[in-house]
Amino acid sequence: MRHSLVAGNWKMNGDSESIAALMAGLLEVRCEADLVVFPPHVYIPQVIAAVGGSGVAVGGQNASEYKSGAYTGEVSCQMLQDIGCQYVIVGHSERRSIYGESSQQVAEKFVVAQRVGLTPILCVGETLEQRDRGDTLSVISAQIDAVVSRAGLDALCDGVIAYEPVWAIGTGKTATAEQAQLVHQNIRCQLGESGAKTRILYGGSVKAANAAELFLQSDIDGALVGGASLDVGEFSEICKLA
Ligand code: PEP
Repeated sequence: MRHSLVAGNWKMNGDSESIAALMAGLLEVRCEADLVVFPPHVYIPQVIAAVGGSGVAVGGQNASEYKSGAYTGEVSCQMLQDIGCQYVIVGHSERRSIYGESSQQVAEKFVVAQRVGLTPILCVGETLEQRDRGDTLSVISAQIDAVVSRAGLDALCDGVIAYEPVWAIGTGKTATAEQAQLVHQNIRCQLGESGAKTRILYGGSVKAANAAELFLQSDIDGALVGGASLDVGEFSEICKLA
């Protein structure tokens, strides 16, 4: 019922040449899953031109919660939509931890993204300390509640959620398929009936070697891939498994 989605977050990597090569490889990938890539903002037009009518979607790694104005260095959701993006990532743990984004700010970004027609991918996840304290489910639930309070449950369910344990991002450590499924199942329960259609992705050191087991879990609908999305061989294997 839910169609798999594989998202590649390139973070702050690449240049015109390496991105052209990555796109050439990516366009060769034949898979059932929906694909979306998140280049650094300045390379989005290059990537949109490259994807053409291939069906690969493009999104922004972040956007402002404001519409326009004196926000030096920021890019609005409207601007992303204007240049052809379909998605935007909100609340990535690097934004929360390095740039101090609060759950309320993330919720505002979620609302603004939907208002302009972008599909937000809401990232949620616990730190290692929170997991060790046994707080994983309550932390995730609070991050989701912040968006429900601002956007409403139905709006949240129209977006995409990515469960990304902070301790698994870029570390080579991944949650076991069982650990991930437990959290995904809890998120789906929290969403209620409308959540049956919501795609919940797993993210955190996903590679071709661990993707198959993760994708076998009933509440895992694809992946948000960081590091491995820069390696076309790895990424295409993940896409084929989804
Ligand atoms: C991410 O940045 O969203 C991510 C999951 O990174 P990685 O796959 O490198 O852990």
